[in-house]
Amino acid sequence: MSIVDVYSRLPAGLREMLANIYARRLHRKRFGGEFGKLLEFLEYSQDWSRERLMIFQLERLREVITNSYENVPHFRKLFRDIDLRPSDVTSLEILKEIPIMTKEMIKSDPRSFISENIRSIKTIKDFSSGTTGTKLEFFLPLSLYRLNFAALWRFYSWAGVHLGEKRVTLGARVIGERPPYWIYNKSEHQLLLSIHHLNFNTISSYIEKLTEFEPVFIQGHPTGIEILADEMLRRREQLKAKAVFTTGETLSDTGRDKIENAFGCKVFESYGVSECVVAAFECEKHNGLHEALEYGITELESSGEEGFYSVIGTSLWNNAMPFIRYKIEDLVVPCEKTSCSCGRTLPLLIRKVIGRIDDVVYDSEGNPVLPVTIRMHLKPFLKPFQNYQLVQLNRLEFEFRCTSSDNDQKKAFDKLLKRLLGNNIVLRVSEVAEIEKSGGKVRNVINITGKPS
Ligand SMILES: [Zn+2]
Repeated sequence: MSIVDVYSRLPAGLREMLANIYARRLHRKRFGGEFGKLLEFLEYSQDWSRERLMIFQLERLREVITNSYENVPHFRKLFRDIDLRPSDVTSLEILKEIPIMTKEMIKSDPRSFISENIRSIKTIKDFSSGTTGTKLEFFLPLSLYRLNFAALWRFYSWAGVHLGEKRVTLGARVIGERPPYWIYNKSEHQLLLSIHHLNFNTISSYIEKLTEFEPVFIQGHPTGIEILADEMLRRREQLKAKAVFTTGETLSDTGRDKIENAFGCKVFESYGVSECVVAAFECEKHNGLHEALEYGITELESSGEEGFYSVIGTSLWNNAMPFIRYKIEDLVVPCEKTSCSCGRTLPLLIRKVIGRIDDVVYDSEGNPVLPVTIRMHLKPFLKPFQNYQLVQLNRLEFEFRCTSSDNDQKKAFDKLLKRLLGNNIVLRVSEVAEIEKSGGKVRNVINITGKPS
């Protein structure tokens, strides 16, 4: 029995106590040390002129390249091969001379991407799931991890929300297999609702809890928040919040409308990746997502499909495992103009994120199972670079396709998916050479039958 299973079976009070001990540690990790200074810096730098921001980027880029040249085997060799020295970094244009860095390159020789002086840097290890199901391990300096939270809180302030205000997070964390499916995190005044247990049987208790908690703002995956909004609109109920922040999945136009109506406020979308190379946020004018220039350098490169661009990111803060011209494998639609009526100098970058374009599927009893739930449960079973696709063909019939799988793994997928979708489903697990793309993206969860009536 895993530690998660043991935790899931504990009584609610004990779960909340343990979760709060964990949350206090997490709070210190996120908001301790230099967090305050970083937030102050970002609040100050957002008023800089574009020229000053560019000078800042150039200075940081020179540091990143110097460190990579001196301490990171992959870049040391690469820079020698292309004859690039730190002293050549006199303009941001120099980036174009550096070849793109891909996940496959890291996978083939991960150690060569790690700085030889990593022991002298306080780091955290993290994994990215990637929108293509690709799993990658990487290191972030603790200071960058904190900068990421500072950037997030600056974004929240654009919507008039401030640090420490009461919030609800509809998230993918493990909260337990028994009700209540939420935990109150005292150190952040945060009510954490489990996205995995949101279904037609539990939705009333979720709405009751939300109403009783009276959050100032709500954050989470749009597919989950949309389900809550849908039900509230059906009941003609409204819960007044200051803002709803979505991330991690593509927000549809209808989803945005429903959420704005149910919560009587605007939705603010953001885009980022766990590797912390790019950050973009929607402001109160809702003209698109502004690029956080202090955070990284983002390039958009034509994907080969008209109108869609690939995101290439360079972190300006990672000296433990530098990401320089790193291909993120997400597609976006860029903004036509970079200036925004809000007056911020941070340029408008992204009009639409074509991140995860997955569907909600329904279990054998007709309860919605969100794509994030499928992703989180499959993640531990996936091998590096393995990809998958779950298709709901009709009410009880599903097909699960995966690349490079063996029989034991197929059995594990079968067991897991039946646990999530019902033992009486008809499930075909098959191996395919490649998962077909549509609209430039791999869709991991597809529902071709729609919502059960
Ligand atoms: Zn703006």
